[in-house]
Amino acid sequence: MKNAQLFGRARERIPSGVNSPVRAFGKVGGTPRFIAEAHGPYLVDAEGTRYIDHVLSWGPMILGHAHPEVVDAVVSQAGKGMSYGAPTELEIVMAEKVCGAIPSMERVRFVSSGTEASMSAIRLARGFTGRELIVKFEGCYHGHVDSLLVKAGSGALTFGVPDTSGVPDGIASTTVVLPYNDAGAFTRFMSGSGDRVAGVIVEPVAGNMGVVLPREGFLETLRTATREHGALLIFDEVITGFRFRYGGYQDVVGIGPDLTCLGKIIGGGMPVGAFGGRADIMALLAPAGPVYQAGTLSGNPMAMAAGIATLSVLQRDDPYEKLARSMTLLLDALREGASNAGLPLAVNHVGSMAGFFFHDGPVQTFEDVMASDSSRYARLFHLLLDKGVYLAPSAYEAMFVSVAHTDELIGSERAILRDALAKVAGPA
Ligand SMILES: *Cc1c(COP(=O)(O)O)cnc(C)c1O
Repeated sequence: MKNAQLFGRARERIPSGVNSPVRAFGKVGGTPRFIAEAHGPYLVDAEGTRYIDHVLSWGPMILGHAHPEVVDAVVSQAGKGMSYGAPTELEIVMAEKVCGAIPSMERVRFVSSGTEASMSAIRLARGFTGRELIVKFEGCYHGHVDSLLVKAGSGALTFGVPDTSGVPDGIASTTVVLPYNDAGAFTRFMSGSGDRVAGVIVEPVAGNMGVVLPREGFLETLRTATREHGALLIFDEVITGFRFRYGGYQDVVGIGPDLTCLGKIIGGGMPVGAFGGRADIMALLAPAGPVYQAGTLSGNPMAMAAGIATLSVLQRDDPYEKLARSMTLLLDALREGASNAGLPLAVNHVGSMAGFFFHDGPVQTFEDVMASDSSRYARLFHLLLDKGVYLAPSAYEAMFVSVAHTDELIGSERAILRDALAKVAGPA
């Protein structure tokens, strides 16, 4: 009852009871779990029920919850003050780590969210090129920036409002939306209008319409055509940064964008974003340059401490192979369960990040995603929740594992996943 009571109380004061839409369980139904604490791979709700967490705060908690080294760093910083509004050595250390790991980021600025990072990156692209248009791709989400909330995936998709009210047409019309994974459509658009494009922003692995991998050659085409037309290429690596290796997905595929957005993992659970890239572009930022950007809590010492600790552990322990193996084991169980039950299941997967769709055939485009059966996902979600496994409360989000998901835990979970799929196939 406690979750339901809290949900009722929350709705008295907080619209829909939540501070970010997907948390409200709108598309899967039922009562959101109000979380009291979290340790390692587990969430514990207000009723004391424990769940194996595959949302991991939508990505940041790659080391698991309350990792001792991250907690120590934050606690120790708190005793020294939580915000100064003046520069610190922590910011330098964090900047050196990020730029050292992602070579295309010659300079970086820290902000407080992924939204702020993409907002600042597109402003900078416009300032640098003196052009207005931004190209984005269907189903890619770059935070709730006015001009990027067009066909934006994620929460927007879940709620069937790919466009939002409150954004003037004049602003939305500065964004051009093209199909993800369609290199031909991109090339055609750029040959007609490329000289009006300030920047092209893309999730190099789409993680906000479920997970959709870039087709061979798609990202390369973006790189070549933006260069040819003098537009900037912006990789939004808020979800992919430090997810597959100690660096970006750009370093996996060997494509250097002009600007990169980061968030999630680099904050270790604290509110952080970052944007950075070519030194000549970043030089345009205020106070030296004409492009204004600022933040009272930007580079906040608590956030930097959590980020430095998280990145240090990732660099030292290099857990990426183990993470990929854990995810593979889980996905194999899902595939097995689906195949036993005669359910069509498409699985997209890189390292510790995966998406699966009740869909016949591969899922490579936004249309494929939309054609998948999200009501079946909702049933699976609740079957698993009842068994103590917490997936994203939406068919259009990624699934994650953390370092704290031990082989033993993964092993015990495989049976739960197979059973749940058998039940999903049955009558409702
Ligand atoms: C989560 C996310 C964002 C937004 O980050 P917030 O911190 O929620 O503002 C932007 N881009 C991508 C790719 C994301 O996954």
